[in-house]
Amino acid sequence: MNVKRILILGLDAVEYDLVEEWDLKNLKQKEYGKTTLPIYAGEEPNTRIIWPCFICGCMPKDMGYVTSKVFPKPIQYFANTFSPIIKSTFNPQSDMPEDITVRQENVKLKAIMKFYEIFKKLNMARNPKREDIKASTMFDDDPRRISLHIPVYNEWLPDIAFKTIEAIEDKTYRSIFNINLLNEFKNKSNEVFNWLDKKDKWDLFMNYFWFLDGVQHVYFNNPKKIAKYYIMADEFIKKLNDRLDDDTMLLIVSDHGQKKGIHTTHGFYSVNKKLGLKNPKLIDFRKTIEELLQK
Ligand SMILES: [Zn+2]
Repeated sequence: MNVKRILILGLDAVEYDLVEEWDLKNLKQKEYGKTTLPIYAGEEPNTRIIWPCFICGCMPKDMGYVTSKVFPKPIQYFANTFSPIIKSTFNPQSDMPEDITVRQENVKLKAIMKFYEIFKKLNMARNPKREDIKASTMFDDDPRRISLHIPVYNEWLPDIAFKTIEAIEDKTYRSIFNINLLNEFKNKSNEVFNWLDKKDKWDLFMNYFWFLDGVQHVYFNNPKKIAKYYIMADEFIKKLNDRLDDDTMLLIVSDHGQKKGIHTTHGFYSVNKKLGLKNPKLIDFRKTIEELLQK
């Protein structure tokens, strides 16, 4: 297999089971499957933790933070050290939704969360930023490796992501929300095509898309609406694959799936080449990518 460059699409919240159910051939590419996510037992995957873990190729603790908020130093140390241990001790299984019940009944865990809440309320907890990612990433220090919009690493989340609750609660706001979802998709897919035209300038390129997470949160009980957006993604991938050279690998990854508005604990991946992977860990892709690029 001759791979000269790798193009990655980070598609937030692609649900493996829906790709299968709707048989979205372009999303599936030549090889596809579920991935194992970098979460500790009993945890719900968090977008702001999983993507940095993907580009670093390691678990949250080694990446830099394990909670979606970053706390002052001694507290963050406590969170990084103890919260994965406590969570895995009290929630040995990671399947949802049983875990949610287990978690709710878990007094000790609740106490810890309360503790975190206090810091959040005191405004002592803040959103993670690039400096909080302590591990190296597959994009560091190489001008031929381009990353766009990766949560926390390149930017926070797209503005529209902060309107999700408003769109869930207020139906009249949804038409604006939809337009913004479509705009995010259009702008970012145009970016991909523009960089494809400059393919002599990079070996590794990644763009991140949020829209599928948004539509699944707001329209969790409207599969037809969700299907429309999945089909839109599927058609984009067809167009993209038609324009790729044989020596360009297209890797699609998600940070979790989503059912009924709740993040599921498996991810999705697909490739336009046969890699022969079986249930790969999301954090193992960094190694695979760097090995392919070194050849
Ligand atoms: Zn996500």
